[in-house]
Amino acid sequence: MLDALDLAKRLIAAPSVTPATGPVFAELEAMLVPLGFAVHRFTRGAGADGSDEAPVENLFAWRPGPAGSRHFAFAGHLDVVPPGEGWSSDPFEPQVRGELLHGRGAVDMKGAIAAMVAAAAEVPREAGTISFIITGDEEGPALHGTRALIDWMEGEGHRPDLCLVGEPTSVNRLGDMVKIGRRGSVNIWITVEGTQGHVAYPHLADNPLPRLVAILSELDALTLDTGTAWFQPSNLEITDIAVGNKATNVIPPLGQARVSIRFNDLHTGKSLSDRVCAIAERHGGKARPVISGEPFLTEPGAFSKLVSAAVEAETGIVPELSTTGGTSDARFLRSLCPVIEFGLCNATMHKRDEAVAIPDLAVLARIYARIARAALALAPTDG
Ligand SMILES: [Zn+2]
Repeated sequence: MLDALDLAKRLIAAPSVTPATGPVFAELEAMLVPLGFAVHRFTRGAGADGSDEAPVENLFAWRPGPAGSRHFAFAGHLDVVPPGEGWSSDPFEPQVRGELLHGRGAVDMKGAIAAMVAAAAEVPREAGTISFIITGDEEGPALHGTRALIDWMEGEGHRPDLCLVGEPTSVNRLGDMVKIGRRGSVNIWITVEGTQGHVAYPHLADNPLPRLVAILSELDALTLDTGTAWFQPSNLEITDIAVGNKATNVIPPLGQARVSIRFNDLHTGKSLSDRVCAIAERHGGKARPVISGEPFLTEPGAFSKLVSAAVEAETGIVPELSTTGGTSDARFLRSLCPVIEFGLCNATMHKRDEAVAIPDLAVLARIYARIARAALALAPTDG
């Protein structure tokens, strides 16, 4: 088997703070081409479509199986969050210390992509089509990343039957958690306007703040639902209240607030936005929602069973099927086919001195190889 540790080091050594382009993609391409993959890379964002955002690179690689065979996709991202200060060593110089490989992206998620490459090398071409859906814009706004990849794939007729995203889903031990869904997310900006004036002459002014407080207390008192078999209850949090009034004797002209809702599949971003807008308007305010992701669920079935079986075969652990945590690109990929997420332990992701347990890389590669083989062997009706 290819050495996933060696591959992970090569990817970490190519700095790729989000949004990523260039060398890190060249490195992955250089790994995949000798394995028989065709590679298509394209850039979106500044310079590509005239927008003022930083450019984003995406990569789709595929190795076709026999005609009519199944198509299994590995998905993930090569961009990383900024390293921040205080690392014990250069975050972009892979460092082995004891049983740990240190470097930005070691667990989120260059280590997993290295394991995917090692796994793909173990799957015979006759087993079916394997592809890699890899973006450089997952940790950022995700505007030109996986969504652009999906558009391109659809245009070219590449449609996987099943997809595994390699986000770090494990918690305490490799294999203890698999994600079969994610909650949706919407942020809503609320504005209440009034008329500025002197606090001693309130009849000449109109204070917007009591109305803002009324909106927020009504929103905070909402029970959106009590959860489902696979999701925890949806939750609304007030994340900002801003007035910026420095004068003690002035009634401010404007009050603003922001709420963030993480929601399950009993709702859509639109249904919740409409509800919050109606409450804000009833109190004379305005609400502006930005939906960052809809919830998705891959119902437990043949796909989750084969993932669990692969994890158990290599680790002895039966993973918990979960929908907790933040959003991921699986929210977009779900439009293509059933999606499950499984990857390394997430304790150090986005942190200083991010590190992966070196033995986990080889175990993950073997789990991924089992998943790919089993997914390609699945009868179409089981997908
Ligand atoms: Zn990630």
